[in-house]
Amino acid sequence: MTSAMITTNQLNVAQLLREAIGACRAYDFQDRITVSESRPSVINGSARLMRTDAGILVEAKAHTDVIVTCSRCLSESTVPIELKFHEEYLPTIDIDSGLPVNVPFTTFAIDKNHILDLSDALQQYALLEIPIKALCTTECKGLCATCGQNLNTGTCNCSSKIDPRWSTLENLINKANKAS
Ligand SMILES: [Zn+2]
Ligand SMILES: [Zn+2]
Repeated sequence: MTSAMITTNQLNVAQLLREAIGACRAYDFQDRITVSESRPSVINGSARLMRTDAGILVEAKAHTDVIVTCSRCLSESTVPIELKFHEEYLPTIDIDSGLPVNVPFTTFAIDKNHILDLSDALQQYALLEIPIKALCTTECKGLCATCGQNLNTGTCNCSSKIDPRWSTLENLINKANKAS
């Protein structure tokens, strides 16, 4: 089966709905989805659609890069996400009669213009793949709890103890201060 290349997550399935059970379509799609922090990311994938007795079964896999905030150092980094799903989409309008069809609230639906929109499923499945405690790198050193310095980009003086070689001098200064 050859795949049609489309630059949208919205597929017009009016024709497929009129075909016999088992009829298929394949698409390679590219679009944007908004997964985290309201910033859209480009998603690339492929979808195979098959007419079922009730609707259309979608088998999709996709790749996207999502921007996440590191849970240790709060810097932003890009996490590659691979996702796939298997969902049956049900029509909300009967393709032959044009009459509305009651579709359970929880299922993915084909809208009244026979548009099957992959966006919701892509978002939901991408969310599942995002690590709960994202890290910029596994070795992230985080932030200094005292001064907030990002310890990946530099050091701070908070935790470093006074070099013992200075302690003799320090004692001398203390003595001198007391004496004066
Ligand atoms: Zn980090
Ligand atoms: Zn510090």
